Amino acid sequence: MSVMAKPPAASAHPSDIPASAAGHAIVRVPAEGPLVDVMGGAIRHEIKIHEHGFIALVDAMPRLVPEGQTADAAIVQAARVSYGQGTKKVSEDRGLIRYLLRHRHTTPFEMLEFKFHIAMPIFVARQWIRHRTANVNEYSARYSIVRDRFYTPTLDNVRKQSASNRQGGEEKFGGGGGENPGELKTAEEFLTFLGDVEGMYERYIKLTEAGVSRELARIGLPVSVYTEWYWKCDLHNILRFLSLRMDAHAQEEIRVYADGMHALLAGIVPITMEAWRDYELEAVHLTRLEAAAIRELKSGGSGALASDNKREQAEWDAKRKSLGL
Ligand SMILES: Cc1cc2nc3c(=O)[nH]c(=O)nc-3n(C[C@H](O)[C@H](O)[C@H](O)COP(=O)(O)OP(=O)(O)OC[C@H]3O[C@@H](n4cnc5c(N)ncnc54)[C@H](O)[C@@H]3O)c2cc1C
Repeated sequence: MSVMAKPPAASAHPSDIPASAAGHAIVRVPAEGPLVDVMGGAIRHEIKIHEHGFIALVDAMPRLVPEGQTADAAIVQAARVSYGQGTKKVSEDRGLIRYLLRHRHTTPFEMLEFKFHIAMPIFVARQWIRHRTANVNEYSARYSIVRDRFYTPTLDNVRKQSASNRQGGEEKFGGGGGENPGELKTAEEFLTFLGDVEGMYERYIKLTEAGVSRELARIGLPVSVYTEWYWKCDLHNILRFLSLRMDAHAQEEIRVYADGMHALLAGIVPITMEAWRDYELEAVHLTRLEAAAIRELKSGGSGALASDNKREQAEWDAKRKSLGL
C-alpha cells in the first residue's frame, strides 16, 4: 500500500521534500564539480534599442554548467547520447558542435532555451510574431493603458522606397549629408506626420477616462506605439530567427533587435554562435546554376548565370562581388 507523503510546509526548500514523495524513490546525483551560472548571477542582461525599446535576456536553459564550460555544453550532452559517450574535452566538444551545425543535425540545439523580455514598436512585433516556434506572452492593451512610447526614426534614418525591391527602403533622404533640400523637406514632413499621429495619445487617454473601454480605445493608436512581451525559444529556432532577421533584407527596425539578441547570446553559447556565423551568417550559399557559372568561369568563360530571371541575375552579381569573382 502506498502512503501519501505529507505535503511540505510552504516555506520548505525543494531539497527538503522527502525523496520518497508520492512513493517514488528520487536519487539526487550531485554535480561532479562546481557549477557556474551562465548569466553570471545577473537577473537580466539588457541592451537598449532606440529611445524606448530594449531586449533583455532574462533566463537560460541550461542556467548552470560545469565550471570552465559554457551553455554550449548542453548541446554536447544531448548529442553524445546518440553515441553513448559522456562529455569529452572542450576542444572535442567544439569540433562536435561545428560538425552538428554544418550537417544540420539540429535537434541537440533544441535542448537549449532562452527567455527574453522585449519592448518594441507594434510594427516590429507584427514581423516578430511570425516566428511560430517561440512561446510568447504579451502586454495586454485590453487590460492596461498603453504607455506613451512611440518609435520615431532619426532624420538621417528616414529611408526612400527602394526602386528594385518593393519591400525595401534603402537610400537615405538627403543622401545623408542633406545635399538635396527638397528631399530633406520630404523627410522632415514625414517626421511631422509621425508627431501628429503621436498627438492622438492624449485623445486616447481622455476617451478611456471618459469611459471608452481600453480594448476599443487602443485601436486608434498607430503601429509605432510600443508593446512588450516575454519570448522564449529554443536555440535551433533562435538561429533561424537570427538568420532571417539579421539578414540585410530584413527591415532595419527589427534587425537592430536581432543584432541585440545575437550580442546577448554570443557570450553564453560562444561556440555555437561562432559556428553559425561561419556556416550561415557570413557564408555564401550557391545554387546549382551559380555553381555551374563558377565552373564555367574557371574554364575561361564569362561566369554568366544560365537564367533570364532578373532577380536571380542580381543575386548572382552580388555573390560574385562578395566572392571577388
Ligand atoms: C525579409 C522578409 C520578408 C517577409 N515578407 C513577408 C510578407 O510579405 N508576408 C508575409 O506574410 N510574411 C512575410 N515574411 C515572414 C515569413 O514568410 C515567415 O513567416 C517568417 O520569416 C517566419 O519564418 P519561419 O516560418 O521559418 O519561422 P517559424 O515560424 O519560427 O518556423 C520555423 C520552422 O519551423 C517549421 N514550422 C513552424 N510552424 C510550422 C507548421 N505549422 N507546419 C510545419 N512546419 C512548421 C518550419 O520548418 C519553419 O521553417 C517575411 C520574412 C522576412 C524575413
